Amino acid sequence: MSESTRPQNAPPNQLDRRGFFRGAAALTVSGIGVAAGVARPEAQTGAAPAIADAAERLEEQTQSALRWIGRDPADWVRPRTGVDHNVVIVGGGQSGLSIAYGLKRKGVGRVSVIDRAAAGETGIWRTIARMPQLRTPKTLAGPELGNAALSFRAWYETLHGTAAFDALDRIPTAAWADYLDWFQRATGTMVRYRTRLIEIEPQGDLLRLHLEADGARRVETARKVVLANGYAGAGGPNVPDFVRALPADVWTHTTGNIPFDALAGKVVGVIGAGSSAFDAAAVALERGAAEVHMFSRRSYIDYPAAPSPQAAPPPDRGYPNLLELSYELPDSVRWRNFLLGDRRVASVPLDSIERAAAFQNFQLHLNSSLSDVARSADGKVTGKVGSKSFRFDHLIAATGYRIDLAAQPELARLHEAIALWRDRYQPSRGEENAAGAAHPYLGAGFEFLPRTETGAEYLRNIHCFNLAAALSFGIPVGDVPSVVDQPRLVTAIARDFYREGVDTAAHERFINAPLTAPPSAPYERAVATRDAA
Ligand SMILES: Cc1cc2nc3c(=O)[nH]c(=O)nc-3n(C[C@H](O)[C@H](O)[C@H](O)COP(=O)(O)OP(=O)(O)OC[C@H]3O[C@@H](n4cnc5c(N)ncnc54)[C@H](O)[C@@H]3O)c2cc1C
Repeated sequence: MSESTRPQNAPPNQLDRRGFFRGAAALTVSGIGVAAGVARPEAQTGAAPAIADAAERLEEQTQSALRWIGRDPADWVRPRTGVDHNVVIVGGGQSGLSIAYGLKRKGVGRVSVIDRAAAGETGIWRTIARMPQLRTPKTLAGPELGNAALSFRAWYETLHGTAAFDALDRIPTAAWADYLDWFQRATGTMVRYRTRLIEIEPQGDLLRLHLEADGARRVETARKVVLANGYAGAGGPNVPDFVRALPADVWTHTTGNIPFDALAGKVVGVIGAGSSAFDAAAVALERGAAEVHMFSRRSYIDYPAAPSPQAAPPPDRGYPNLLELSYELPDSVRWRNFLLGDRRVASVPLDSIERAAAFQNFQLHLNSSLSDVARSADGKVTGKVGSKSFRFDHLIAATGYRIDLAAQPELARLHEAIALWRDRYQPSRGEENAAGAAHPYLGAGFEFLPRTETGAEYLRNIHCFNLAAALSFGIPVGDVPSVVDQPRLVTAIARDFYREGVDTAAHERFINAPLTAPPSAPYERAVATRDAA
């Protein structure tokens, strides 16, 4: 049985504004209704605007906002013959949609967004995000790139009232998914669904994209590619070897379709103790698992402390304007920032911990690494922690993601030419880290750089906006806070097109053209002196 219920009413690509805004409102209310633990705003406030009125108001407000920021500039990029697209954005999730909007506002045309998923199934929010509300604060800036009327808050408050927004703890996951659908339509972003990038093949400085669209193979050319292909987009899920060695039907990574219904009455082991581990454990327990055992190598679970003035973060943390500049830090600081993240115990929202811990049949094993994992003759998975033995019906690997460009099929032809941190930075003794060394060493516009001094210049036309950019940019790229870095990528693309296409001869002609005076008729009567000499 499928883990998640796919939305029936996947969004059409054409913009039918009235119908769409009404649909957005209805979807949201139903979305919030299904988000466990999050009350419907009407119930909280008793003063929710009527849905149809609110949808009308949202439509009017959005139209006004789009009018007030002015028309989208015309496409100024000089076309190159024989090329299908100026930019192909791989991924129609929040990053891809926001970058597409940014390019549109910069006047960069012939941008195509592709996504291998079907309409309504892009991103993670309706599939593997198993928590009722986002993990990040509700007030963060999102994909709207400064246009406040396109923000989550504007959308939500207009549909449900300001009191409803104030009453939210954090953003309901279903509402965030609905909002992104709405954002896509409000910004008029077309996505070519069911279109998968198979491989990138360089051709001079161009990129030949091998695609599979609805089962048929085709090749399209692009000058630039943006990889907005998600957390798993630079090496895939991280699956420990001892898990991978097991038959595929007895384990699932948290990025996969966990067969929760089949786990009712069964014993489940969860490897890892981050947010996704707790969320998967909670769903298994809610669906009737007999026992869930979670294994953490660490001695404690971290969770956000209640805000305290004494524990103020250093001044360069938590401030979007400064986060945006973390790329400018010296390599040694960026490297140590990564080491700190690697060393730290991942912080889990308190409500995710409590959701699982509320079950008596949930057992957390700290300082515990499973060993001797195998499948026994009766089909169970067996394992040990020290002298203690365990038997499971199913293992869930909540073991995160790995950065390994060699394992990313789309990069099969080029990964060897890409500069990695190990090529550009020599850590001090004791600060070596194999995982960090495998990250790409990116340029300031998120572009890959060639490993060698000459050759492979085409790599600068591939912009990597996924988790692999985390070391270079100091934050998990792709998450909501990383949206502050998108303008940097958009500007870099615009700059490259400008440099490539600028007609310097035309500029010189313009600058050197003789200045001619218009007729003096409007002021002729007042001229007292024509020549002071
Ligand atoms: C479980 C989970 C919970 C999270 N919760 C939060 C949170 O609360 N707050 C927060 O700020 N961040 C959170 N994040 C991090 C981040 O916000 C999400 O991962 C978010 O989905 C990233 O958006 P994205 O657009 O970069 O990638 P995605 O949403 O993953 O979208 C990538 C898209 O690329 C498509 N794609 C991939 N490969 C190809 C290909 N070869 N061809 C065509 N299409 C392709 C996919 O189909 C997908 O639609 C969470 C991450 C996870 C995994």
